[in-house]
Amino acid sequence: MTTSPRAADPANQDRSDNHDRSAKRVLLAKPRGYCAGVDRAVITVEKALETYGAPVYVRKEIVHNKHVVETLRERGVIFVDETDEVPEGALVVFSAHGVSPAVHEEAKRRNLRTIDATCPLVTKVHKEVNRFAKEDYDILLIGHEGHEEVEGTSGEAPDRVQLVDKPEDVDKVEIRDPSKVVWLSQTTLSVDETMERVDQLKERFPDLQAPPSDDICYATSNRQFAVKAMASECDLVLVVGSQNSSNSKRLVEVALQAGASDSHLIDYASQIEESWLDGVTTVGVTSGASVPDVLVMQVLDYLSERGWGEVEEVTTANEKIAFALPRELRKDLRENPDGPKGVR
Ligand code: SF4
Repeated sequence: MTTSPRAADPANQDRSDNHDRSAKRVLLAKPRGYCAGVDRAVITVEKALETYGAPVYVRKEIVHNKHVVETLRERGVIFVDETDEVPEGALVVFSAHGVSPAVHEEAKRRNLRTIDATCPLVTKVHKEVNRFAKEDYDILLIGHEGHEEVEGTSGEAPDRVQLVDKPEDVDKVEIRDPSKVVWLSQTTLSVDETMERVDQLKERFPDLQAPPSDDICYATSNRQFAVKAMASECDLVLVVGSQNSSNSKRLVEVALQAGASDSHLIDYASQIEESWLDGVTTVGVTSGASVPDVLVMQVLDYLSERGWGEVEEVTTANEKIAFALPRELRKDLRENPDGPKGVR
């Protein structure tokens, strides 16, 4: 496998012009894979295992990736759906997607020790909900029904938040004062689709206010932009990610909308079907924000074994964002740097 990085400029057709159209190649999106929020959440659980010893309870999947969840489970993590499955007084980590105040209260009531691994960019949206609810706004939250992040965010002010998922939801919205309505969003949506929904909402509510800053996070939009930059050159785009990962699923949709002939979401290289590669010369590869790069490397190995050894990295952004670990964990790490503490 040979790799050569090249900065992508969507307006610049150099890559496709210079490429021998019959030669097999892979275009590898950058940025791809782990974002700062996922990295922080996974390290939080790993450090919790090292600091307190197994088992560590985690409410919901810490991040939406099968491989990550299985690996942590093997190391002693017990994933639960709700805090009432955690033994009284035990330690529980809240996932990157965030939880509602009701979950915090329930944990407190049951005397659980908690570490909150909610991504700071999700927390930012929670704070926006609180602020607009206090100012008595109706809040239209654009997001996917049933997604954990949406449940947590709505839970900040359930009486004030209405979920707008599908186009037909726009007509169902009821507000009290058309001059006091704001839209906010889930962090992992398609940028383009969200703006379509906002335009629809604006037709009904011309005074609709926008979030103070983008709710769709940098990682989601950067990964979508990278896929867009290469999709039109690709006969096939393989997106590594899990079925329950919102941002990974959006990458498949964005690839197809941006001109890829075909696109599939896979957890592992072993899920690639040989028939997908029939008649394909250029394969695009990317991964969702909860995907460790080792899984992408396995896809590249799979493709290399079948003649797609030439890999060109298409770089549209260099990410340097990192988040500090949760405060409650940092404190215990400082006090107990050498391992299991036996507090539970
Ligand atoms: S995708 Fe965005 S909001 Fe979600 S964990 Fe990553 S950085 Fe945070």
